[in-house]
Amino acid sequence: MTEEDEQAVGRVLRSGRFTSASSGEREIAGLEREWARHVGTGHCVAVSNGTAALSVALGAVGVGAGDEVVVPALSFIGSAIAPLHLMAVPVFADIDPVTFNLDPAAFEAAITPRTKAVVVVHLHGLPADLDRITAIAARHGIAVVEDAAQAHGARYRGRAVGSIGAANTFSLNVSKNLATCGEGGLITTDDADVATRATMLRQFGELIPADGDRSYVAHLLGWNCKPNAVQAAFTRSRLTRFPAEAAVREENVGRLLGRLASCPGFLVPEVPRDRTHAWHILRFRVDPAAFDLADAFAGPLRAVVQRALRAEGVPAAPYQLQPLPAQRVFTERRGFGGGHPGDVRSLPGVVDRPYRAEDYPATLRVLDDSFTLQKAHLHPEAGPLLDRYADAFEKVWEHRDALAAVAATTAHTPHWERASRIADAEWSAAFPGR
Ligand SMILES: *Cc1c(COP(=O)(O)O)cnc(C)c1O
Repeated sequence: MTEEDEQAVGRVLRSGRFTSASSGEREIAGLEREWARHVGTGHCVAVSNGTAALSVALGAVGVGAGDEVVVPALSFIGSAIAPLHLMAVPVFADIDPVTFNLDPAAFEAAITPRTKAVVVVHLHGLPADLDRITAIAARHGIAVVEDAAQAHGARYRGRAVGSIGAANTFSLNVSKNLATCGEGGLITTDDADVATRATMLRQFGELIPADGDRSYVAHLLGWNCKPNAVQAAFTRSRLTRFPAEAAVREENVGRLLGRLASCPGFLVPEVPRDRTHAWHILRFRVDPAAFDLADAFAGPLRAVVQRALRAEGVPAAPYQLQPLPAQRVFTERRGFGGGHPGDVRSLPGVVDRPYRAEDYPATLRVLDDSFTLQKAHLHPEAGPLLDRYADAFEKVWEHRDALAAVAATTAHTPHWERASRIADAEWSAAFPGR
């Protein structure tokens, strides 16, 4: 945090105008204008967080009760619960094991006459295969919603992510590349009607003027997910440094990945030539063949490599323990009915398909044979730290024979089995006997 960040926040605190409903408030509109310019869209609508941004974006493009929304099986839970908040049905599709993004063929196979939208996640910061996905979506009359929560600033064939779908979303959560001092979200679109609808959905279905009196007329069903002016001012201040920080990150990460070329047992993230990577998360797969191990040992090998790297001070960790459809909210349908005003399955024509982890083999394989680096590399001054990480990767690779021997003889528990045990234990502790 810089002096300018503090001054920006102080300015809002002294102004007494704290939300987008405060007459005369200027920071939120300022952030919306600047982010729209950054992404290259005609409009931007700020909301309270990235998950709300997705629900609002899906609602603004017309997704409603009983519609199906295709979502990749590997993402953060926010990508998958946003459709449910609209009583729409998430239908999962497997990923491409190289890009970790939605596999266009799996997307097409998941389409039914009820499919209304697809949530295209640019996972870890790498743009998904947008040309193929938008072509399939256009053929079937499906709205594309980009979930760019992890990909601020990434470009696909010369265009910024967030400028290609019908309505697209970003998160400003503290954990993201462009962060605020808490929670925030942004929606970008070129469609003025979609922007107006998104604005109404964030504020009780009302049209609240920037200056002047609020009418309190609710024109349509909305939420309350208005943005906060303190958070907008903080992000505006950070946005002035964002392009320079992204360039330094590109250089730092490039040097780390370049050094790993001498360790062929670690498969580094690939960036197709037609796109750039925002480098939010670095995911490394292990190649059992390079360790003289059969394919079946990919999971145990990853676990052993991860332990060795951690012993060397590299914070190697999983990102997601299970495919999204294996989450209890889906397998047990918790919140679909009962606690929810309606059970989506009771809507006419809705097909109640099972949510089964085994239907997403590429996601399972990647979860088992890869680990990630998160957060530490994001700081522009992380260069020297990443050089030390590269030293550690090289040391681990030098000891590959010893590690392979351990991997070949150690019992292995995949992340999703552990996640399942954690889920049961947490639930029974919170609700004994149920
Ligand atoms: C973080 C994230 C979200 C949700 O953003 P929040 O601001 O935390 O609600 C959605 N999708 C993806 C891919 C994310 O990484």
